[in-house]
Amino acid sequence: MKIALIAHDKKKDEIIELAKKYKNILGEHELYATGTTGTLIMGETGLAIHRMKSGPLGGDQQIGAMLAGGELNLIIFLRDPLTAQPHEPDVSALLRLCDVQKIPLATNASSARIMLDALAEKRF
Ligand code: PGA
Repeated sequence: MKIALIAHDKKKDEIIELAKKYKNILGEHELYATGTTGTLIMGETGLAIHRMKSGPLGGDQQIGAMLAGGELNLIIFLRDPLTAQPHEPDVSALLRLCDVQKIPLATNASSARIMLDALAEKRF
């Protein structure tokens, strides 16, 4: 499966924690991420990740283009609901495309754990 990992700045620690916990299962799949998120996860876990541009510089749109092309199977996007994002339109577009394509999307760590547990148990 092709999985995208994205986290807003205040959620970077949470996505690193998730990536460490689920390193083995994530390592069995093809991983994509926005720039900073990908760099941090690679540095902390050693996982191989295709990195896009940083989110505010177009990375969310690049992930969105992959979604539109039917190239992604699961999105984990840990959003910060308490901070205004300069690239909010890009974020909204990405979330919308997940619904258009009916792609599983986790926007917080609890949902992500449920999805990754299901993935580990081969329930996807
Ligand atoms: P980043 O982008 O991984 O480059 O920080 C994430 C985002 O804010 O969309």
